[in-house]
Amino acid sequence: MIVATLVFASGASAQQQPPPATQVAVNPQAPPAAAPISAEQQRTVERLRNAALESDLAWEIVEDLVTEIGPRLAGSEAESRARAWAVAMLRENRFSNIRIEPFTIPYWDALREEASIVGAAPQQLVIAALGGSPSTPTGGLEAEVVRFPDMAALEAASNAAVAGRIVFIDERMGRTQDGSGYGAAVAKRGRCAPVAQAKGAVACLIRSVCTDPHRFAHQGGSSRQALGASLPAAALSPADADLLARRIARGSTRVRLNIEADIRENAPSGNVIAEIRGRERPEEIVLLAAHLDSWDTGQGAVDDGAGVAIITAAARLIRDLPRRPRRTIRILLAGAEENGVHGGAAYARAHSSEPHIVGAESDFGAGRIYRFRTRFAEQALPYGRAIQRQLAPLGIIAGDNAASGGADTGDMRTAGMPVVDLAQDGLDYFDYHHTPNDTLDKIDPEALRQNVAAWAVFAYLVADSDWVFTAPQ
Ligand SMILES: [Zn+2]
Repeated sequence: MIVATLVFASGASAQQQPPPATQVAVNPQAPPAAAPISAEQQRTVERLRNAALESDLAWEIVEDLVTEIGPRLAGSEAESRARAWAVAMLRENRFSNIRIEPFTIPYWDALREEASIVGAAPQQLVIAALGGSPSTPTGGLEAEVVRFPDMAALEAASNAAVAGRIVFIDERMGRTQDGSGYGAAVAKRGRCAPVAQAKGAVACLIRSVCTDPHRFAHQGGSSRQALGASLPAAALSPADADLLARRIARGSTRVRLNIEADIRENAPSGNVIAEIRGRERPEEIVLLAAHLDSWDTGQGAVDDGAGVAIITAAARLIRDLPRRPRRTIRILLAGAEENGVHGGAAYARAHSSEPHIVGAESDFGAGRIYRFRTRFAEQALPYGRAIQRQLAPLGIIAGDNAASGGADTGDMRTAGMPVVDLAQDGLDYFDYHHTPNDTLDKIDPEALRQNVAAWAVFAYLVADSDWVFTAPQ
């Protein structure tokens, strides 16, 4: 409604009477029609929005998770305790069909991760070994470092420039509200090791994929095993990447790198699932996802304790309604997202044959939601507009129709599930992401409530409708 009014105001002369609301739709500049919702649904939406904005349930959930469990590395004993915590928490919130769906993963943890500039003026470097990195030889390895401004420069380099050296990719990431700098910047995390190895390098260092200037290295997985790489690899804190670049600019620089990795096959992980069964169409599923695991230097508060709390609190508000929605709302707290999206893959293997109406994941921190994106076929766009109109009072604008849906819903999206993004403001997300600084104090309780309100409205409207959603071809 706000958008329609603005369009009219800019196109009309001062003498004209404002047209009734129904005429706005025929203005060629007005947004296309939104599907109608019933008066009862409208009342319920308002009730959910108001209840969410006064509820501290999401805060209580994430506070309890990071205080009772803390970091939850995929496949670890802590991740197993997090699953037990989640089952108890979901029971306490009186969901149905609560269960753990186990699977196994390749386990990886760094027992030692050290680097230093060696020579006449030694300096220590703060690093984090990249997920999947093998150990260096006992006692570490030492070599001259060769710097490249980005992956393209490494790819263009001759083997002679790289062979026997430690490759350093010094690419920076841009700060954006939607996190769009991440995709380009993160490519080096997965591709540095295989490309460097093919050219004869002995190890790989990257500038952390981040936007902060702090002396924390940002952890992160890499697709290195899938790409056949067996090169030790680590991320440098941005401050140490700056230092290393300055030393290299002054002349030949040698680094000693010592990584000891704990690598095991068939470690236990699992997805935790809970439901509000639909009153009319229980077989039809609205999927709300977040991931339970985290990297292990911080508390996993922003990534993704916040997401766990947001979707659970939103579902709980719907569970408390006097009448359950028509369709089933299913909560997926995925395991082992960080080191390879194993939980999302396991979920799709087990459930892709069930009818999934729409799915989405909350996995971009705890900032306010500012935009609603869909990934719907043309026929379903009026439903997307109807949902966005109910999100508008929360300050959420209409986005494009190219939603990603999130990592853990990726395989389901590939299998044809329509997805949406309740896109959060991520301006500071990559300051904290995968660092010791991912702690509870980075979450703004008020922003968390706004997230819960938006997820509750979205999930309720999809679940209580008979709208037929399809994904674009
Ligand atoms: Zn995450």
